[in-house]
Amino acid sequence: MVINTGSSSLKYQLIDMTNESVLAKGVCDRIGLEHAFLKQTSRDGDPVVIEKDLYNHKVAIQEVINALTDKKIGVISSMSEISAVGHRVVHGGEKFSDSVVINDEVMKAIKDCIELAPLHNPPNVVGIEACQAIMPGIPMIAVFDTAFHQTMPKHAYIYALPYEIYEKYRLRKYGFHGTSHKYVAERAAAMLKKPIEDLKIITCHLGNGASICAVNGGKSVETSMGFTPLQGLAMGTRSGTIDPAVISFLMEKEKMSVKDISDFLNKKSGVLGVSGVSSDFRDLHEAADSGNERAQLAIDIFCYRVKRFIGDYAAVLGGVDAVVFTAGIGENNSIVRRKVLEGLEFMGICIDWDKNKVRGQELDISTPDARVRTLVIPTNEELAIARETVKLLK
Ligand code: ADP
Repeated sequence: MVINTGSSSLKYQLIDMTNESVLAKGVCDRIGLEHAFLKQTSRDGDPVVIEKDLYNHKVAIQEVINALTDKKIGVISSMSEISAVGHRVVHGGEKFSDSVVINDEVMKAIKDCIELAPLHNPPNVVGIEACQAIMPGIPMIAVFDTAFHQTMPKHAYIYALPYEIYEKYRLRKYGFHGTSHKYVAERAAAMLKKPIEDLKIITCHLGNGASICAVNGGKSVETSMGFTPLQGLAMGTRSGTIDPAVISFLMEKEKMSVKDISDFLNKKSGVLGVSGVSSDFRDLHEAADSGNERAQLAIDIFCYRVKRFIGDYAAVLGGVDAVVFTAGIGENNSIVRRKVLEGLEFMGICIDWDKNKVRGQELDISTPDARVRTLVIPTNEELAIARETVKLLK
């Protein structure tokens, strides 16, 4: 079972790892709020919605087990059929460069990382504790979003700030989406039929949250998100990189508090802030097509940043063998991919624009003679977490 816990939601999948097939997947939403519900889709069935008070995450986990073992909509006969639980944990700090089996010491270390990820780690901890309470004796594994990036060299992850601040707070670049970057980089090597050790790959995870990673020989050497997921690309609602002086300017001029400025940069900026329309690219294209100039500008800013990072990371890697597009936008949005990739022929990126129309499936969209292979690869973080879980159990 793979669990991804948010503050008021909990996503899950039950995967049969003998053949990597998803038996059931679902979500508990509005945990702790009114009108909570569980929605589950089983392998052979339509989605089923169960409205139920989900007072807390523990109640939610119990309802998940009930749904999975239910006579009508369930897919297993008892909880004992669940061999292990893989948990997505956002922040592993400097402590975790790989997935781990959860024990008391690991739990303490995850809690120590709360300071670094006050929004993300607390719900992850609650999710693990809820599972431990409901499923005693079943092994639990933590898979960290930050772990893959722990191979970055020091000159990549240290900010040019007084060094004591790093020593005092471990304030540095960590990077996120590591499970996804690793998964698609490995898939890219498989598609190209080459050992990953021999490849220089740029992976572009473009979803509501978006980040890019330079992968050299299978290891992350640079990534666009930083101390928090705010750094780097312009995103759905996040600003990405800005001049840090903007913060003190706005706090003074607009009388913004620390919380105000954090909300402003995390929730009100990005393509939503520029367009004033939406954080969702489907809405942005619709608005842009009917003449909304700010919606078009938001799309242009997003694509321009991705293009810049590809150039940046080509320099970091000293060449590129493959560029990978993944996540909601990367997998489905051919307009964005085209805007990003046009004009990069000088570096060997040549696209078959017909193939670029692909959505949601693995495809090499480059022309046969292109020096750099450009690949669309759907990410699958749940499967990656399940594979890590199996690996650790062995
Ligand atoms: P999250 O970071 O929340 O997981 P996603 O990876 O689902 O985000 O990406 C959300 C973005 O992907 C949205 O901007 C949405 O417009 C775009 N997207 C998702 N699915 C599709 C699709 N089928 N067609 C076009 N765009 C899509």
